[in-house]
Amino acid sequence: MSGFVVAIDGPAASGKSTTARRVADRLDFVYLDTGAMYRAVTWKALETGTDLGDQTALGALASSIRLEFRSGESEVRVLVDGEDVTEELREPRISRAVSEVSSVPAVRRAMVRTQRNIGAEGRCVVEGRDIGTVVFPNAPVKIFLAASLEERARRRRRELSDRGVIQGLEALMEEIRTRDAMDSEREDSPLRQAEDAIVIDTTRMTIEEQVAEVVRVAQAALPAASE
Ligand code: C5P
Repeated sequence: MSGFVVAIDGPAASGKSTTARRVADRLDFVYLDTGAMYRAVTWKALETGTDLGDQTALGALASSIRLEFRSGESEVRVLVDGEDVTEELREPRISRAVSEVSSVPAVRRAMVRTQRNIGAEGRCVVEGRDIGTVVFPNAPVKIFLAASLEERARRRRRELSDRGVIQGLEALMEEIRTRDAMDSEREDSPLRQAEDAIVIDTTRMTIEEQVAEVVRVAQAALPAASE
């Protein structure tokens, strides 16, 4: 069967990555983390000392970068031009710069092209900010994950501390708030809930509950799409 996309959008640290990866496992779908793609471009830009205000240079970098995703035990490893940068992509320096890089239209064009190529290949769970609105507006399943700012900051703090990075709750709330504002206010493909998306507020849900809910919605849509 050709492309069946489960689109999962939502603000920063709303649980998209963990949920999407587990849903993909359960359904035996491919998992695509589009945030990691923008983080990878940002990593490359910082690594090469590219001026983040130079849109032409960022566009060229995004078009020439070689991105690879490899399924590991519990996470997907991300390789940029052959180098495994999985851990670095989550560093605060990347989180702080990524919204500026992802607001550049030429960067988005390059990433969306790749995302659509991957999505056309088969069944996949794709998570990001503009998946249900721009990248796959005809996706049969669109989910928008929401959660309170404080809860999202707590989750991010736990995730970072698991990686040995200690950051205070206040600072994280500020960083997430700023990133959400930039992602929502940019002109090209802002973070926005698709009109036909199902909203799931995960503030008081466990990850297992989130996964079960998305799987339920996807399975309900699958038979119709196969007809
Ligand atoms: O999901 P994650 O927090 O890893 O995303 C990092 C950043 O990448 C977002 O804050 C946003 O600026 C950008 N992004 C985007 N469009 C997507 C996915 C992520 O602009 N589809």
